[in-house]
Formats: sequence, structure tokens, C-alpha cells
Amino acid sequence: MSASTTEKHVFQAEIQQLLDLVVHSLYTDKDIFLRELISNASDSMEKVRHLEGTEKNFKDAGDDLQITLEMDKEAKTVTLTDRGVGMTHDELVENLGTIAHSGTKAFLEQMKEGGGSPAGLIGQFGVGFYSAFMVADKVEVFSRSWKEGAQNLRWESDGKTGYEIEEVDELPRGAKIVLHLNEASEDFAEEFKVKSLIERYSNFVGFPIMLDGKRVNEVEALWLKNKSAVSEEEYKAFYQFACKGFDEPAYRLHFAADAPIAINSLIFAPSENPEKIGFGKVDGGVALYCKKVLIDAEPKGLLPEWLRFVKGVVDSADLPLNISRETMQDSALVQKLNAVISKRIIKMFEKEANSDPEKYRKFYAAFERFFKEGIATDFANKDALAKLLRFESSMTDAGEVCSLTDYAGRTKDGQDKIYYLVGQNRDQIESGPYVEAFKARGLEVIYFMDAVDEYVVDSLGEFDGKKLVSIRHAGAELEDLDSDGDALSEEDVTVLCEFLQTELGDGVTKVSSGKRLVNSPVIALVPEDGMSPQVRQMMKAMDENFKDVVKVELEINPRHPLVKKLSEVRESQPDVAKLVAAQLLDNALISAGLLDDARETITRMNSLMEKAMS
Ligand code: ADP
Repeated sequence: MSASTTEKHVFQAEIQQLLDLVVHSLYTDKDIFLRELISNASDSMEKVRHLEGTEKNFKDAGDDLQITLEMDKEAKTVTLTDRGVGMTHDELVENLGTIAHSGTKAFLEQMKEGGGSPAGLIGQFGVGFYSAFMVADKVEVFSRSWKEGAQNLRWESDGKTGYEIEEVDELPRGAKIVLHLNEASEDFAEEFKVKSLIERYSNFVGFPIMLDGKRVNEVEALWLKNKSAVSEEEYKAFYQFACKGFDEPAYRLHFAADAPIAINSLIFAPSENPEKIGFGKVDGGVALYCKKVLIDAEPKGLLPEWLRFVKGVVDSADLPLNISRETMQDSALVQKLNAVISKRIIKMFEKEANSDPEKYRKFYAAFERFFKEGIATDFANKDALAKLLRFESSMTDAGEVCSLTDYAGRTKDGQDKIYYLVGQNRDQIESGPYVEAFKARGLEVIYFMDAVDEYVVDSLGEFDGKKLVSIRHAGAELEDLDSDGDALSEEDVTVLCEFLQTELGDGVTKVSSGKRLVNSPVIALVPEDGMSPQVRQMMKAMDENFKDVVKVELEINPRHPLVKKLSEVRESQPDVAKLVAAQLLDNALISAGLLDDARETITRMNSLMEKAMS
């Protein structure tokens, strides 16, 4: 082929179809052409680096392994030059004129099967080089391959029917792509526009991107470096600059993995909870990259929703560069990333909590709601997340916290349940009648004091094979205590229970004598499937007509003086006994947070006081 001959080629029919689709259905996303071309240039220079090490005949790579961008407003062109491996004549034909490469083939097969929207599909398979035709009505590629004796070539196409190749004067190794911008895309000849695109999509590309003699991409892709090669200052600067963190990072996770999927990841947990300071629900802060090129700044499905507070970067060389936003969540690769990374993050928190409990306590105070949301919504991670919970209990001092692992480690022999009580605060929980029996038996009770805890415990169900049981519920069986002396006789108890059952009628499902109580005369136990006081309160707040008839089981304390006295006066002073019976139930309901209307209670109290004084 001499310099004067021009070879004309017709695109394969499939390429024509593809070009038509790319140009006409992706026009809203045409920004991405630059990312695609930079990514090709970067790949090509990576190949140069590789050849340097493997190919004996490879000549000097040169010290200008960089991408240069030039804009010409008058000529309406954008020119992108790289010093990569370049392309031979056959490679130009094969790479830019046929559908030899697998991505395009798979794409067209899917298209033929009629699966999905063109835009979604193009995104899934990558449009690569052809995206240039979204902004240009003519594209020239000047190229000389690294291979010995390679020709200096110019490829040109209007992206419609075909392309031409001709030989040209001496070129440097690599590729130069000239885009002749179409009318609707002339603004890409503006420097600020191109600069902002580079900063957005290609900031971390491993080769300098030069614009007007200046390097545009200054930030290093820290996540690809070895941990030992990154200083604390660099991490912090990266968090604040690249991840737009406005505080100090509290924790970080920097890791690389090859299996089951290639991951390089750098993730930070902030120290301030933005949702607490009133920013509302935040968007996910972990961006997805493929070999330093941004795929999506806010990828859907990359992490579970509850992890929206962490910030950073996940880079996977296994991802197709152009996976689209629509298909992201369904992608098996993204789901794998999600599983691996969320597990790692939870493990990181667990480790950090063990090594510095005080620091974790502070962090937890700000971020606990996220972990709890995770337990309720992220089935795969809920057991691991349970280990991150912190709470006070009957065995901690006020304000001190422990974990479920701590609890499980000090259960009594044979104890197969974890006992808890949900309440507003420690005082309210401890002054009620529920905890005393457990304390007396040396059984630890967790105090859950956050409004959402009820749901969290429900979702969790068990920990370490031990069922979580509310001590408000009737099912929490207790052993006898040695100190069970001086109680009413069994006979008296039976008669008294029958009396109370008759007096209280529909208000109680059952009256029995029990072992729970130490200092209180009676206690109301709700059925395990019953509504908790917290849930009832919410229902009432939402619906003023809300009424539910609370049916409780009343347990009496046969050792309590009040109960013994009631047994005594049951026959001799029936009027008083009736009032006391009703009042005992109300008192138990008040302690349980279940009394809605106190008017009757007050009237009754007044009669009782009158009688006491007469
Ligand atoms: P992909 O990059 O997904 O393979 P493209 O359509 O972007 O698809 O590119 C097709 C092929 O053309 C690439 O695989 C590469 O071999 C070749 N190519 C594209 N750009 C360049 C370049 N700047 N230098 C050398 N080869 C290139």
C-alpha cells in the first residue's frame, strides 16, 4: 500500500446496527465518550508497561507515557493522543471495524433476543470506541503500532457505512484520535467542560492526563497502593478531598482480594453522623471504579442500604467498564462485591470495637441506628451485625455498655435464653416489677432503651443459639428460689386466684401465683405474640381511634404482705377486697405501660383512701 492509496471498507452489518443504536439511544449520556477513550488510551499504555517487562525486542517505552488532550474551538475538534501500543493495519480493521471482540458480540446477541432497552444493554456491554460517534460526525485515528516495521496509518469514518485507511507520514508510537465534533456537541471543544469531565470520571487514571500543558488528574488512586505505602496524612487527605468527608474519619478499611472477585477497596467510616445533624437520609458514599476509571459515583446495590454512611472507593477489575445504572443492582458481580465488602466492613467494626472499646462506644452512640437498620433489613448480615450492638444491662453500671457476646459469655449453666426488657430509661426499667426476679436469680437482663429496639430484637430472634426473650412475656420460665419462704399456702393461693379471676373478669386471661416477684405484689405478663407498649403507643399516636383490648396474665406474689392481707380480708371485708383486686390489676398495667385511661383508677383510689381513713 503506497501513501497515495486509500482503502475503503464497509462496516459489518452488525457494526452499522450498533453504531446506529449508540448514536441514537445514548445521546443523554454522551459525556461518557471521553471516559471511554481515556480508558482505551490508558489500557494501551498499560500494555506498553507490560511489554517492557516481557518482550525482549520492545524498544524504549519513552518517558512520556501520558494522555494529551487538545481542543480547537475553531476547527471544532478534540484530539486525544496516547503513547500506547498503537494498532497495525489488521488491528485497525479488526478492532474498529468488525465485531471480533466479545462484548459487542454478546451485546448484539442480546439485542436479537430482544432483551431490555437499548440504552440499558449498551451500558451493560460497553460502547467503547464507538461512543466517539455520539459527539463527532467524523473520527480520525492516527496510529503506529509498537511492532517492528509497522505502518503509519490514518483511519477515518463518519460512523455510518464504512471507513477508510491510508498510509501517512511518520507518526510516533501510539494512537491519536481526532474527533470532529457534531453541531450538538461543539461545547466539548471548551477546556473547562473537558476538564470537569476528567475530574469526574478519570481523576484517578494511572497516567498523567495533560491539558494545555498541565496535568489534570492529580489525585493518586490510593486504594491500589499497598497499605504500608500510604501515610495517615494521605489517608485523611483522600477522605476529605476525594470522598468529600467533612470530618475526621473514625475508621478505615483498606483491602485487596482476588477471590471470589477482584477487589481493591478503601472505605472510611466518618466520625459524625450526618443524618443526626439533620441532613436527612444521606446517599451512598462509596463510588465504584474499574481499574481507576469511575463507573458510578453512587452505584445502586453496591452496598446494603444501611451502610450508606460509609465513604470511599471500590475498584474491581472484573467489572465491565460500562455496566449501566439500570442493570447495576441485578448484576451478579455487583451482588458478589456487596456480599464480600459488607462482611469485611462488619468484621472491621468488630475488630476495632475489641481493640478500643471506648472509641467504639462513642462511635456507636452516633451510628447505632444504622446497625439496627441492618439487623432489621439485611438478612445475610444480621447475625454478624448483632455482635456490634451495645447496651446496658442489669449487670452493667448505669452508662456502661456491653455486647451480646459479653452476655453470652456469662450466662448461667444451662441458660438457653437471653433476657431483655425494652423501656424508656434505666430508672423506669429498674423501678418496674419485671427485673427483680431475674436479678434475684443472678440472671442478666438486657435493657433496651432505644425506640427502635423492639423491632430490632424481633428481627434478630436469637443470638449464638440462644433465644431472645422479653421478660415482660409470660413465657419466661424461672427456677424456684431457695428463699421462697413464708408464703400463702397452696390452698389459699388457689382460692385467691379464683377470686381475682372472677373479680377481674375479661381484664385478665389467667391469674396464677408465680416466682418472678420479690418486692412487688403483682405483675402483668403479656402474651408472646401481644403488642408491646412501644408499638401500642405508636399505633395510638397514628390513629386516635385506636383501641385494643389488652389481655394480660396476672401473676401474684404469694409472699407479698399486700397479697397475704388480701387473702385474709377477702371474706371479712368484701367491698375493700373488690376495690383492692381491681386496683392491683391497674397498678400492674401501669407498670407494664398498658393503662390507657386512668379515670376509673382515680375514682377507685379515692374510695380506697376514704375507706382506709374511716
Ligand atoms: P474495548 O475497549 O471494550 O475492547 P473498544 O471499542 O473501546 O472496546 O476498543 C476496541 C479495541 O480497539 C480495544 O480492545 C483495543 O484493542 C483497540 N483500541 C482502542 N483504542 C485504542 C488505543 N488508543 N490504542 C490502541 N488500541 C486501541
